[in-house]
Amino acid sequence: MNVGASSHRLTTRWGNPMNPRWPPICSSEESRGNICFRVLLFKCFALGVAGLLLAQKDNDTYSKQREEMVRTQISTLRWSGSQAVRDSRVLDSMSKTPRHRFVPAELVAYAYEDRPLPIGYGQTISQPYIVAKMTELLEPKGEHRVLEIGTGSGYQAAVLSPLVAQVYSIEIIEPLGTAARRRLETLGYKNIEVRVGDGYFGWPEKGPFDSIIVTAAANHIPPPLVEQLKPGGRMVIPVGNPFQTQVLMLVTKGSKGPHDLQVWNLMPVAFVPLVGEPKAK
Ligand code: SAM
Repeated sequence: MNVGASSHRLTTRWGNPMNPRWPPICSSEESRGNICFRVLLFKCFALGVAGLLLAQKDNDTYSKQREEMVRTQISTLRWSGSQAVRDSRVLDSMSKTPRHRFVPAELVAYAYEDRPLPIGYGQTISQPYIVAKMTELLEPKGEHRVLEIGTGSGYQAAVLSPLVAQVYSIEIIEPLGTAARRRLETLGYKNIEVRVGDGYFGWPEKGPFDSIIVTAAANHIPPPLVEQLKPGGRMVIPVGNPFQTQVLMLVTKGSKGPHDLQVWNLMPVAFVPLVGEPKAK
């Protein structure tokens, strides 16, 4: 009888959804705490959803900007003397690589404009067209191992990443190299290795390379880089002095030894200087 009476009370007070006090709210310190916790949980959930929606909107905005960048700056002829980039794999990589993640926060709004941007320490991330053109000139293949001199922000290495097997990149300014390595890891690039050092001497332990890209202007073609290029390999390098017009050169290596080279002058460019190398004799 007692049991029946207490179970009846339970049903009418807490067990019955028709009861206006069901579920029990704020009847004690404990339940108030419970409610607060649930409200907090709901707020976190709502914030998370809002964050995801904003991120999605951001992604859509940036991917539209990238498509526009590829269409207007890269895949079409820009000025007489420049050539449009045609390699569809390169264009695809340019349209997927988030350049806005490689520039300083205050310059994100300019990330997809047709120009280089400062990245600190007096250095720059190159203009999108130049990145795409130099990448195309390397004729990247899925099995290639590529050496980059001048990691900078890591953007050029990121553009190369989906096109080749492995990218090795050397940066002489320690904070830039460390930041680029961290950025590339955060963004999930698995086949890029960044080292801090003087790229003039290449990375002999990892060579020989199918191609080498130098993203700072040297006053001559560094012999150690020629040595580390495979027969049949390609090197793209701006050559010239700072504050003068430099020339973007394509160097191809034949199979008859280190002097079996062909060099093409391709177009005028303006790069920051390759520093740290010995003076030309
Ligand atoms: N590829 C970079 C990117 O995607 O952001 C841009 C490169 S920036 C135009 C040139 C870079 O070359 C600078 O970060 C500079 O510090 C680096 N550099 C200059 N001389 C170097 C050297 N001897 N060895 C390695 N890096 C060098």
